[in-house]
Amino acid sequence: MIDVIVFLGIQGSGKGTQAKLLAEKTGYQHVNIGDLFRQQIAKGTEMGLKVKAVLARGDLVVDELVFLLVNTSLEEDCPGIVFDGFPRTLAQANYLVANYRLKKVFYLDLSEEDAIARIEARRVCSVCGETYNLLSAAPKQADTCDKCGGKLKQRSDDTGDAIRQRVSEFYTQTFALKEFFVHTGLLSTIPASLGIKEIEQKISRELI
Ligand SMILES: [Zn+2]
Repeated sequence: MIDVIVFLGIQGSGKGTQAKLLAEKTGYQHVNIGDLFRQQIAKGTEMGLKVKAVLARGDLVVDELVFLLVNTSLEEDCPGIVFDGFPRTLAQANYLVANYRLKKVFYLDLSEEDAIARIEARRVCSVCGETYNLLSAAPKQADTCDKCGGKLKQRSDDTGDAIRQRVSEFYTQTFALKEFFVHTGLLSTIPASLGIKEIEQKISRELI
């Protein structure tokens, strides 16, 4: 069985950053399911076509397909996986525990209010797609891309009700997952309000 470390946390909690850092440090493969799907679709692989068809029908991608995708995307001799924002459901969590050697689950805890504020502060360049955050990674000049001078905008799903809905869905879903992982004794909750370095150090200490 392959070793697995899981990062859970809402968008803006910094889980992607920490997952990447830990993957670099350990040599584990960083796996973000959404990215895997997009890569397979872009490459036009058989798996990508399957996923695309399912998404086009508006269906949820079934768990079997998700795990098949993960297993076919692993590099040879991959020493372990850092999952970024996965599992999302209890069924996926059960499958994960049964088929991988789960070492640790890190939950980056961010309050609902802070999560909304961080998402609302996101901006993207309308020309080159570079991303910014007015709270943590602001552009040098207001509303202007540092790289290309393009105008910055907010994604339509990063505003008002769309955020509130997404955030509240996340907390409902994640509550059940957290309970599940508490019972495995492997859950570690870390305040996402800490700095990147501090969080990184906490994570390292927990893994010794
Ligand atoms: Zn730009």
